[in-house]
Amino acid sequence: NSDLILYVNLELVNKKSDRRYIVEEMLGQGTFGQVAKCWDAETNSYVAVKVIKNQPAFYQQAIMEVSLLSMLNDKFDPDDQHHIVRMLDFFPWKNHLCITFEMLGHNLYELLKKNNLRGLQLQFVRTFSRQILDALIVMKGAGIIHCDLKPENILITPKVNSAAGVKVIDFGSACMEGKTIYSYIQSRYYRSPEVLLGYPYTTAIDMWSFGCIVAELYIGLPLFPGASEYDVLSRMIEMVGGQPPDDLLREAKNTRKFFKHAGSIYPGNEAHDGLRSSYRILTEDEVEARDSKKPKIGKWYFPRGRLDRLIFSYPWKNLNEGNLPEAEKEDCLALVDFLRGLVEFDPNK
Ligand code: ATP
Ligand code: MG
Ligand code: MG
Repeated sequence: NSDLILYVNLELVNKKSDRRYIVEEMLGQGTFGQVAKCWDAETNSYVAVKVIKNQPAFYQQAIMEVSLLSMLNDKFDPDDQHHIVRMLDFFPWKNHLCITFEMLGHNLYELLKKNNLRGLQLQFVRTFSRQILDALIVMKGAGIIHCDLKPENILITPKVNSAAGVKVIDFGSACMEGKTIYSYIQSRYYRSPEVLLGYPYTTAIDMWSFGCIVAELYIGLPLFPGASEYDVLSRMIEMVGGQPPDDLLREAKNTRKFFKHAGSIYPGNEAHDGLRSSYRILTEDEVEARDSKKPKIGKWYFPRGRLDRLIFSYPWKNLNEGNLPEAEKEDCLALVDFLRGLVEFDPNK
């Protein structure tokens, strides 16, 4: 389709051809722009081109994406071993910043959908988790917070020797640790307690999102599919047990959106590490009275209840603790233990 050819300004980017990238199909659409599968006539290969919306705020953030990702690629992962997407080039086109990436496969949300949202086999959960964690370790070493880790931003890599693999993409919301600017970050289901509560954040917020993703890969549905921020937070408390530590609640900007000062003797107020807390989360009635609008209920049966019960007896898996084979029981116990370390309310841990 000739309408879709990206004309590259020769003077700006000094490319050999003014028709280097030929759009074949649209791969995805996000907040920041559109991503197209393109034929690169210069290298004779497919690439993914992200065309950023032509507004200054998006342009600025895209420049951040380019600089953080090129630093990660070149300095922290020169041999492409750590499951982070490779950026190939970037250029301006009609006021749009365009970024070219290596061509990858489907994202993990698309993969889960193909599987009717019934979750992946544990062996894939294990492989993908290890690879995402590898990317997160490199990012932590570089002092980079991704700020938007979610299944849509993790892509399947083309099969090399038929081994399954993934890569982390979309550094369009990323920032440097200690230079955080925005407070409204992360996608709601994957938003960490400190971001919800308005507390200074670190690379630990990616670890929270990672925990949500690992659980989702296994059960097939989001772990905390809250219709509102309050709904997300109350699901966390219900599912993980405990709540954010008192010093975090004391200092966070948004605590009073969600919590009430309950005095240190509030009965049944099981807080972090079994310590008694002087805060309790608002009841649904209290929130409703305040907001007078009910959270929407989606079309899916979304998980509720405690994390361990969920992992052991999620209906799609058609298993329950009683009749699980010994080996699978151990796998589930290990998974619950791993998840508990990730969906941890205390960012210092
Ligand atoms: P968000 O709304 O998550 O911020 P975004 O506008 O920043 O999205 P990306 O996440 O970079 O855009 O890309 C959007 C979608 O395009 C991805 O979820 C993915 O499905 C597809 N995509 C992006 N990069 C590639 C790639 N290198 N190869 C194949 N598909 C890709
Ligand atoms: Mg994205
Ligand atoms: Mg993005």
